[in-house]
Amino acid sequence: MSFRSLGICEPVLKAIEEEKFEKPSSIQIKTIPLVVKGKDVIAESSTGSGKTLAFGSGIIQRAERGKGIQALVLTPTRELAEQETRALRMFSRYKHLEVMSIYGGVSINPQIEKLRTVDVVVGTPGRILDHIGRRTIRLADVKVMVLDEADRMLDMGFIDDVERIISECPKERQTLLFSATVPFEVERLAKRYMRDPVRVSAESQVDPRKLHQVYYDVDQGMKFSLLVHLLKHEESGLVMVFCNSRRNTDFVANNLKASGVEAEAIHGGLTQDRRTRIMDRFHSKSVYVLVCTDVASRGLDIQGVSHIYNYDIPSESKQYIHRIGRTARAGKEGKAINLLCPKDFENFTRVLHDFNVDVTKEKRPYIKRAEIRWRDPSSHSSGPSRYGSGPRRGPSRGSSRGPSRGGHRRHSR
Ligand code: AMP
Repeated sequence: MSFRSLGICEPVLKAIEEEKFEKPSSIQIKTIPLVVKGKDVIAESSTGSGKTLAFGSGIIQRAERGKGIQALVLTPTRELAEQETRALRMFSRYKHLEVMSIYGGVSINPQIEKLRTVDVVVGTPGRILDHIGRRTIRLADVKVMVLDEADRMLDMGFIDDVERIISECPKERQTLLFSATVPFEVERLAKRYMRDPVRVSAESQVDPRKLHQVYYDVDQGMKFSLLVHLLKHEESGLVMVFCNSRRNTDFVANNLKASGVEAEAIHGGLTQDRRTRIMDRFHSKSVYVLVCTDVASRGLDIQGVSHIYNYDIPSESKQYIHRIGRTARAGKEGKAINLLCPKDFENFTRVLHDFNVDVTKEKRPYIKRAEIRWRDPSSHSSGPSRYGSGPRRGPSRGSSRGPSRGGHRRHSR
């Protein structure tokens, strides 16, 4: 696939050529043909995916030098605004557009001066709103509006500002929304302000119909034993087991090995060299169970993961979506298994609240207690009851209703 075949205009093609980009990224292939046709697009994509060129190709094609502010890009942070301004200047150098960033914490006067002649503005919502209040920014000529990292912008509490800014732009415009995840609030924003948006995802290999999600209620003291039981009884290919801490990752991986399960831990505490070697072994299928923290969940394209286990439920609900996105790819079936003990319920309830996930409760099987042979040598407090070999604390909670779907305290992020 070439950049030219995506419909990118000549001046941008020339800049791309000079940047020596060899081929378009996945999000560019999926969005650019729509963007240059003027469609509204919701793109699920993360930082580093090449999204600036994805929306930039549309902006640069439509904007002309000296015809007012024709494109407005909203970003959650000043760093991102600066980075995207640099990229848009580079991509638009043969169209000689003037691109500037607008953010708070710096003097407003030079911005006011420059806003009179600029073609494209990239900025954070607070300062843009400030300029709107002072009438020092004119948005009546905006043809393309970009909401970048929309989920993060809303997480940071910018929703009201974003809506006010949108309402200052002409109704007749193209709106492009980029977001790592599309939670309810982003969905609502899209419904309200976009026109028949086309939705694309850089990770669209994940097919929700092929992903089966379940959870088990289990006492903390039997959690590891349940994991061993399921790993030994579920028919699986490659398996990823997610934990929230390095310590738990080491605990689970080492005890799995001691229980006869081929497992390796991978987390940010390992050297890059060691991580690479473990990933190579996992890819070549000599390791079947990869026990990992979230560092391993992003950006890794591993084929053939049949099962995801959440040994801990992540405290940030969008991590849950990233984790389960490791399976059910490329048309294959996948299963996500959540092991819930009382301390996981708050996080799990948050996932159910934030995302429309379809997860069913499984009856806990009769299981034998697995022996805990490995303990964290650096820990004095990890007594037997902490992880699973201590005395049983009575019967399982056995909740038949599962976690409630609301009314929880929202976690501050
Ligand atoms: P972005 O996600 O837009 O911030 O882009 C991340 C980085 O990838 C930037 O340094 C871009 O210059 C670079 N980049 C964007 N598209 C491509 C591509 N097709 N090939 C190589 N590098 C790219």
